[in-house]
Amino acid sequence: MTTTPPPTAAPLPAATIVGYPRIGPDRELKKAEEAYWAGRIDRTELDRRTAALRTATRERLTGLGLDAPAAIPETFSLYDQVLDAAVTIGAIPGRFADVLDADGRIGTDGYFTLARGDAQRPPLEMTKWFDTNYHYLVPEIGPDTDLHLASTQVIDLFTEALAAGTTTRPVLVGPLTLLLLAKAEDGAPEGFTPLDRLDDAVAVYAEVLERLADAGAPWVQVDEPILATDIDLVAGPSAARDEGAGSAAAQSDGGASSAAARSDGGAGDVDDVIARALQRSVGRLASLAQRPQILVTTPYGGIGDHLPALLSTGAEAVHLDLTRGDLPTAEQLTGIGETALVAGLVEGRTVWRTELPTAAARLDALRDLVRTAGGDERTVSVATSVSLQHVPHSLDRENALDAALRATLAFADEKVAEVVLLASGGVVPGDVDGPRSVPRDFAGVHDESVRERVAALGPDASTRSPFSARRAAQEQALDLPVLPTTTIGSFPQTAEVRRARADHRAGRLDASGYRQAMREEIARVIALQEKLGLDVLVHGEAERNDMVQYFAEHLDGFVVTEHGWVQSYGSRCTRPSILFGDVSRPEPITVEWSAYAQSLTSKPVKGMLTGPVTILAWSFVRDDQPLAQTATQVALALREEIADLEAAGIGIVQVDEPALRELLPLRRADQDAYLRWSVESFRIATAGAADGTQIHTHLCYSEFNEVIDAIDGLDADVTSIESARSRGEVVDAIDPERFERGIGPGVWDIHSPRVPSTEEIVELLQHAQEAIGPRALWANPDCGLKTRGYRETEASLRNLVEATRQVRAQV
Ligand code: GLN
Ligand code: ZN
Repeated sequence: MTTTPPPTAAPLPAATIVGYPRIGPDRELKKAEEAYWAGRIDRTELDRRTAALRTATRERLTGLGLDAPAAIPETFSLYDQVLDAAVTIGAIPGRFADVLDADGRIGTDGYFTLARGDAQRPPLEMTKWFDTNYHYLVPEIGPDTDLHLASTQVIDLFTEALAAGTTTRPVLVGPLTLLLLAKAEDGAPEGFTPLDRLDDAVAVYAEVLERLADAGAPWVQVDEPILATDIDLVAGPSAARDEGAGSAAAQSDGGASSAAARSDGGAGDVDDVIARALQRSVGRLASLAQRPQILVTTPYGGIGDHLPALLSTGAEAVHLDLTRGDLPTAEQLTGIGETALVAGLVEGRTVWRTELPTAAARLDALRDLVRTAGGDERTVSVATSVSLQHVPHSLDRENALDAALRATLAFADEKVAEVVLLASGGVVPGDVDGPRSVPRDFAGVHDESVRERVAALGPDASTRSPFSARRAAQEQALDLPVLPTTTIGSFPQTAEVRRARADHRAGRLDASGYRQAMREEIARVIALQEKLGLDVLVHGEAERNDMVQYFAEHLDGFVVTEHGWVQSYGSRCTRPSILFGDVSRPEPITVEWSAYAQSLTSKPVKGMLTGPVTILAWSFVRDDQPLAQTATQVALALREEIADLEAAGIGIVQVDEPALRELLPLRRADQDAYLRWSVESFRIATAGAADGTQIHTHLCYSEFNEVIDAIDGLDADVTSIESARSRGEVVDAIDPERFERGIGPGVWDIHSPRVPSTEEIVELLQHAQEAIGPRALWANPDCGLKTRGYRETEASLRNLVEATRQVRAQV
């Protein structure tokens, strides 16, 4: 058994990163996993390929200059870093108890079962990781979950690298973040929250740290991004409550559903709770006799007032996101003592190069602050703000990019090089307010005609007539029945459709052949909808690979990459477009398809667009001007598209905004400003429509309440939302007085192949009707049908139409 190196033996390297993409430059991880799941390769081959990927990653990072011991964080994951931490501590819901072996360990197959479910069981729920497009699996923890060391992966990966000659830095999502992101397992008693298990969870982390020390790890990284949010302890901050003294909030009402525990209510109280929880987690780990040195990272934003608490835990190093967060104040650094700081100066969420002189100036300023506070400024290291998992691997093979644009970009590898350069002192600090060191003034960035058109938008550009006037005009124009039926836009994307798109892209199918294939598909989809008896039809979106990329490809101001894949979750990747310049629409985008669909039927066909906020949320967006300004440009392009759709005889246009809630800032203080510009951009996009044109919007989530004012503000004539998964509960939250406009709570959960019965749809519709009234109600699925098969689509839509008939008959 080796002994723990004394904390001074291995200082934290001057340059490091919070994390690195693990999907592989050629999506090796995806390919290996999907081959394994399909039975084309066996476990040995899967293990061989993932080990090779890790080796390549270490070699790559060492070559880029992360060559000191512990400079490379081991952020490989077979599926998800939150799941990794959850299985490490044995947070395995009861329904999956059988994935543990006799020794209480979980293997690779069991891990995949939690992630993907199996024939009998749904997987863990998935949700967005902070304000990114990455999805994590939501751990489920109950009062009786047997928290114990169930996976030694974090130790095994360290050992593997060490044997190959590299001392890496093991990484774990920290106990506070893990428990606060977890949900109470089904059946947990009222008032229980996973945070109630903090001590038990920390005990397992302690065991991991002891083993890592045994294995020779000089450092461990504990990620606590939850500190960058307004932590919501409404469910009961019992982590502090049962500690005897108890916080004021806990004492006043037992802590449960305590408004005072929100940081916008009794700020002092929640900070207290967090400080205690930090002591009981990081503090307890730091007090272990045998452990690696601890680096706590706080990505995704500033941690503000939590810094003093973190500095007093005894962790040897604390990382700060200085791209989103401010420099700490002298007061916040008072307790710094020997703690090393890691300055997250290179933004890991965007694809833009860092303003290196500005970053160097901030680094100097931080060092001054540290010195003034009595710390050792030589211990300040440089890192990224967040893990680089949110950006593509490398610019290396992006040969089609315009050279001037390319010179402004940095993907993961280029960002690592920036960190190394900053840390080496090789950058002369520049004036923070000085000119940009990476000018973005090449062709396409600035388009005067776009700016003129934006400037010409009058004060009324975002206001339509009152809804009553619109309703009258639309009733006349559309002549819809009560409780109209519709779908959300896409129809199943068959192999033929995908092949036609791929062939066209590869030049194997010419423009007219492609057009013909799409028209045939549209005709099929229209005929099917007529046969099923739907009231408002769609063209089916066969021409779209992706609801954002499709528009990016047809708008000026965007480029698409060749290899710029980013992990979305598990083996799933997306290739976000890059919005680099002023956005405009060289020609109509969707009009031809929608008009053709409309020509085939006397029923109204809905035009189908993606909204400005969603287009921004799912692209890499320029950061040289406020997002609001960019959103307005996108909105203007959509506004022009809607005018063209109207001119082509389209009477209903849906503008999807599934990402409206996703971009919501993590800090409540920033949310109002965001909601103002995001709502305004939707209104600019849609308010040019005539009164008789019905504007729909679609939002893919059921947390309706959180953004209800914003949804109200969109002023769409009809809003469809996800509802089936929550068994229609969302409609109870809707105040009919207030929401007189149309609403379509989804009655078919399209995320699963299950066909809903007519009876259950009737029930959901009746329930919604009682809550909202028939006049405003629409019947539709939860979301688009792109990933569904035709069999369940036809059966489900048939039931939906039949259920609607029955409910109408009762009115
Ligand atoms: N109109 C899109 C579709 O049906 C909406 C998708 C979404 O909301 N994510 O596919
Ligand atoms: Zn949706």
